[in-house]
Amino acid sequence: MAAIDDLPPLREVIATHDLSARKALGQNFLLDLNLTAKIARQAGDLEGTDVLEIGPGPGGLTRGLLAEGARHVLAVEKDPRCLPALAEIAARYPERLTVIEGDALQIDPLAHLTPPIRVAANLPYNIGTELLVRWLTPATWPPFWESLTLMFQREVAQRIVAQPGSKAYGRLALLAQWRSEARIVMDLPPQAFTPPPKVSSAVVHLTALPQPRYPADAQVLQRITAAAFNQRRKMLRASLKGLAPDIEDRLIAVGIAPTDRAEQIPLEQFCALARVLA
Ligand code: SAM
Repeated sequence: MAAIDDLPPLREVIATHDLSARKALGQNFLLDLNLTAKIARQAGDLEGTDVLEIGPGPGGLTRGLLAEGARHVLAVEKDPRCLPALAEIAARYPERLTVIEGDALQIDPLAHLTPPIRVAANLPYNIGTELLVRWLTPATWPPFWESLTLMFQREVAQRIVAQPGSKAYGRLALLAQWRSEARIVMDLPPQAFTPPPKVSSAVVHLTALPQPRYPADAQVLQRITAAAFNQRRKMLRASLKGLAPDIEDRLIAVGIAPTDRAEQIPLEQFCALARVLA
């Protein structure tokens, strides 16, 4: 397959800059540039688009995003050892790559981005879910991003796209699917990474909907789903009784049997319940 750019192969970059992977930083690198370009393509048409990347590491996905035509990539990396390797990429793509050294949980990158904005990342697993929840719960909707293309442990990816009736179905599925269209677009075995993690991974692509799929107040919906899934084996009349004294009547009013359990209830009914409890 043709090379995606004329920069050195990633194994060479890692050797030159002595980037031995650190477990504490969730460093499992992707070294196959054809694979990173394929992940970049899952993010959609990047021409004329700014891309926020969290955790570029030695820059495999960064190079994929730039080769696929991103107008500008803003990359936030906590490990200062990666900066020289990323500077070489910035020199190869003048004005198109900005690197911020820091913790993605502390930095507000918006000042450096111009819409339309997409997010693409092979996330450090220890902060992946927290970042996703933040991106899905902004103060106003639509959010700053048009799409999120994110690598997760496969088990987390399955929780994001889960449907009612499955074990994986819970708060993350409801949060993601209420205001976005979420799909698993790629599966990756541990061997795709250096070093290989213990578990398989998957890329999830989420497209922001212009407005929530069903009307509901975000905070009320979150309160209901937290109560319902914190005690997911209980019947809803028990797990939700703290939310309203007449919870059984409210459940019946929206077509939910009080003896149902949270994992059987589709998003639409949770939203209806949020409206009657608002
Ligand atoms: N994107 C690279 C790739 O695909 O090969 C590296 C992915 S690796 C799974 C995660 C990256 O996130 C590492 O480079 C790590 O140093 C970085 N990282 C870890 N915690 C971070 C944080 N809180 N903020 C920003 N970057 C972080």
